[in-house]
Amino acid sequence: MRKRAKALGLTILFVLATAASAPARAAPQLEPKVVLVTFDGVRWQDIFRGADPKLMNDPAYVNPDIKSDVIGPAYLDVADRASALTPFLHGVMAKDGVLLGNRDKGECAKVANDLWFSYPGYNEFQTGRPDPNLTGNGKTPNPNVTFLEYLQTQPRYHGKVSMVGAWDVFPYIVNTQRTDVPVNIGFNGTYPTDVKTAREGMRLLEKHDQRAVYIAFGDTDEFAHAGDYAHYLMALERGDDFLRQVWDYLQSDPYYRGQTTLMVLTDHGRGETPTEAWREHGSSRAYKLTPKDFPQYNETGVVGSDNVWFAAMGPGVKRDVASGPGAGECLHSAQVAASLVTALGEDWRAFSRQSAHDQAAPPFPFIGAPTPPSAP
Ligand SMILES: [Zn+2]
Repeated sequence: MRKRAKALGLTILFVLATAASAPARAAPQLEPKVVLVTFDGVRWQDIFRGADPKLMNDPAYVNPDIKSDVIGPAYLDVADRASALTPFLHGVMAKDGVLLGNRDKGECAKVANDLWFSYPGYNEFQTGRPDPNLTGNGKTPNPNVTFLEYLQTQPRYHGKVSMVGAWDVFPYIVNTQRTDVPVNIGFNGTYPTDVKTAREGMRLLEKHDQRAVYIAFGDTDEFAHAGDYAHYLMALERGDDFLRQVWDYLQSDPYYRGQTTLMVLTDHGRGETPTEAWREHGSSRAYKLTPKDFPQYNETGVVGSDNVWFAAMGPGVKRDVASGPGAGECLHSAQVAASLVTALGEDWRAFSRQSAHDQAAPPFPFIGAPTPPSAP
């Protein structure tokens, strides 16, 4: 105790001397930012259980040579399959933040919309509520206001809000005709693979003038629909590695460090049973709307494809509160919009009011106004 008191006394003397000789320097101001990253149509099963042995060993979905030489050793013949596939989500986000939606642990996370495909999902988590009238993936201008549009209309955020993504419907979901939120969807006219999207996303962050950035990846859904489980898994591993790059960058840069909340999620899940259901997603309502596709799902939909997962870390994440849903309760994608607004230190109810419906779902229980990192 005596030693410690003496050391403290010396420190105070040093600080006083420094303060007297140097010009007063203001305490660093917290200017919260949020980065949202989504991976289209990634199952909770692959996130929490890792590569599925049943699919890995099915030549219909994985080339046996690729399995034995490449992804078997990488994803399957390992002690912890989930960490082998998405090491950043499990090794960093789950430890320093939250990673939720593991049904094997009884965690419920679902979309609230009744269609279980992309446009309804992207609308739900960006606007704060499902819209039963949005029933297709077409280029329909969204009548609802996303968190991006809301922020763009606020003087403090105008010009500091951007999205980059791999789908030409995103400008309609964000409704760029109504508000000038920049939504970058194609890069030099080429199909934006996730690698290109990642590069554009990093460029956006490096501009240092953004406070809400949304980066949307799409390769996982493409490869899953094509029945290519190997490429689906590799796209997911690349995505996880992109998260690590983004987080390392954010922590290395004073513009972002200690002020930026990262949130990661998917727009919908996929099926599990029967085996081929992993390729598809959609509710019975969705299949009734497009009855020609996959008649085997017309009555039940792809069971379980409304199951999703959420990850978040940074100063807007309160790890001291119970992070998961209570027994019998579910987290819903509709809570994402209010969560992002809250993680910026803003009043989500004002967002809910001004986004014209006043019905946005509340933030996740583990999200709160950001606080500076505690003093050493
Ligand atoms: Zn899809």
